[in-house]
Amino acid sequence: MKDIFISIRGRLLLNVEALNMTESVGNYVKHRKVPVLVPEENGFVTYFVPAISGESIAHGFQVVLAEVAKSKGLPVCNLCENGIFLKSTNKGVFSEAFKKDPPVNDMELEREILSNCVVEDIGGFLYAEKEMNVKRTSNFFTGYMIPVREALDSVVVEPQLHSRYALGTQFVKREEQQLGQMIYYVELSSAVYTFSFDFDNRFVGKVTFNYENAGKEVVKDGKERVEATLDAIKKFLYEFSFGAKKTRFMPIVSWESLAIAVSNDTWTVPSPFTRKYMENAERKLKKVSYETKLFMFPKDGGFEEVISDAVDEAKRRL
Ligand SMILES: [Zn+2]
Repeated sequence: MKDIFISIRGRLLLNVEALNMTESVGNYVKHRKVPVLVPEENGFVTYFVPAISGESIAHGFQVVLAEVAKSKGLPVCNLCENGIFLKSTNKGVFSEAFKKDPPVNDMELEREILSNCVVEDIGGFLYAEKEMNVKRTSNFFTGYMIPVREALDSVVVEPQLHSRYALGTQFVKREEQQLGQMIYYVELSSAVYTFSFDFDNRFVGKVTFNYENAGKEVVKDGKERVEATLDAIKKFLYEFSFGAKKTRFMPIVSWESLAIAVSNDTWTVPSPFTRKYMENAERKLKKVSYETKLFMFPKDGGFEEVISDAVDEAKRRL
C-alpha cells in the first residue's frame, strides 16, 4: 500500500443549529462559544462566536467509520461498534471491548487493539494504567468549526423559548407549575462555518508507540482499512453525520464550497476562514506538490461528484 494524504476544507451555511451545546444553567442550554482573534486596522479584535468542536466532528466520523468497517467485515470492538468511544482507556474497558485480558507488553497491547478494532487503529486510543501507559495518535485530524471571517460581524446566537406544558392534566396545576414539565431555552446559531478534516494513511495497521518497533505493520488488511476510511469520509460528508440535538434542532445545511486535495505526502488545503482559500490552494499547488490533485466544489462539479472523484483518486493511488 502506498502513502496517501487527503486534506478537506470547506465552508457551509448552517441555519438554526444547536449542534454543539455545552453547559445548561437551570433551564437554559448554552451553545459552545470560542474566542476568535482577527487583525484590524490598528491591531486586533476578539470576537466570541458560536463554534462546533473537533471532538464533536471526530465522534460523528467514528460512528460512520464503525458502521462502514463492520459492513465490510473488518474488525470493530464491542464498544466502538456501539458508538461508545472509550478507546481502551484501562484494563476494565479493554476486557469489555475485546473479551480478553490486556497483554502486559506495550507493543503487544497496541498490536492487539489495532488489529481487533479499526476505529482505534484509525482514530487512536489512550490506555492509562498504573503499570503501563500506551498512546496511539489518531490518523485523522479535525478541529473547531468557526464562523468564516466575513461572517464574524453577522453571527447571531439567540435563545429560543420552548415549552412542553400539559395544562389541563392532573400533572400540571397552575398553582404548582414547577411540578409539570418546565419551559426551557435553547441557544440557536446561524452562520457560515469553516470545516477542516485531514487523513494520513501512513501508520494505518502499523504499531507506533514503542520506538524500537514503530512503523511495523501488524495487520494484513491495511488497504481494506484505508478504503473503508475513505468510504466513511464520503458518507460522512454526504450525510452531514456530526453534531448533536438533531432530533428536534436539525439545522438547515448548505455547503457553499469544498476543496479536497489528494497527495502522496502531507499537503494541506489552506484555511477556509478566508474567502480566497480556493485561490490560495491553487497558488500553493503551483509552488509545492506531492503529485497533489485538487478537487473543488462548485468549480469542478456537484458536491457529491467532487467528493466521489477525490475518494476514487485516493483509492487508485493505494
Ligand atoms: Zn474499539
